Amino acid sequence: MKILEHISDMRRWSEAERCAGRRIVLVPTMGFLHEGHLSLMREGKKLGDRLVASIFVNPAQFGPNEDYSAYPRHLERDRGLLEKEGVDLLFRPSAEEMYSAGHRTYVDVEELSSVLCGASRPGHFRGVATVVAKLFNIVRPHVAVFGLKDYQQFRIISRMVEDLNLDVELIGHPIVRDEDGLAMSSRNAYLSEEERKAALSLSRSLIKARELVSQGERRSSVIIAAVRAEIGKEPQVRIDYVQLVDAAGLRPVERIHDEALLALAARVGKARLIDNTILKPGP
Ligand code: AMP
Repeated sequence: MKILEHISDMRRWSEAERCAGRRIVLVPTMGFLHEGHLSLMREGKKLGDRLVASIFVNPAQFGPNEDYSAYPRHLERDRGLLEKEGVDLLFRPSAEEMYSAGHRTYVDVEELSSVLCGASRPGHFRGVATVVAKLFNIVRPHVAVFGLKDYQQFRIISRMVEDLNLDVELIGHPIVRDEDGLAMSSRNAYLSEEERKAALSLSRSLIKARELVSQGERRSSVIIAAVRAEIGKEPQVRIDYVQLVDAAGLRPVERIHDEALLALAARVGKARLIDNTILKPGP
């Protein structure tokens, strides 16, 4: 596996691959890889001729009181895991390489960025959209794979690609969970054993919501109350939000007509965790 740290080298490699007619797939990550990330790599491998993974803990998407410096990092382990998945190239620029001292340009995807996680993390999605736009311009992938665990992020990037006419195809990959149901996340590393048990109430609450919908419940207020009650059984879990929104525009819905996104965020110990599921009526 080739490893590049400089934008100019990355560009040169991509240009050569494109000229040779090869299809480049990009999977952007912040590292500290788990099965969720690796599952994206496996999907990416099938979608083109060359698979590029990036590892970049993006300072622009962390708030001043967030965990940028504490965010878990383990490059040697990540490198071994990517190699095993057959990744062709790892792009791992430094923060200085990506953001020069004079950097002043940001991508702001309006409305979609200020709801759900955007409400409690102002500026977060501006940082995400900016770095993804930069990675697309540097790596020049034909296809990019993102996880639907970060559903809002996927919607925002899709909007950006459409609005800025970016020439890249986006693929959304389903949430990968541990056997006990917890959505995999690098931030799960922050959880003690006890906190981890408490965090299982998040995925349990989503299952509860799906059961209610399959029994015919359509009212958001009832579904949200049931989700909150399930999570509320674990006093260690502090809910940030539980919302039912339309899956495309992320605007709150009062009833489920067709596809709705049930999204939640909660704090457990030091970790802020997110999870979601799509709810749809019918069998
Ligand atoms: P991150 O390193 O957290 O920025 O994640 C990199 C990519 O992996 C993003 O597209 C995430 O949505 C995706 N991802 C992270 N965890 C999971 C998971 N449990 N299931 C599916 N995709 C995931």
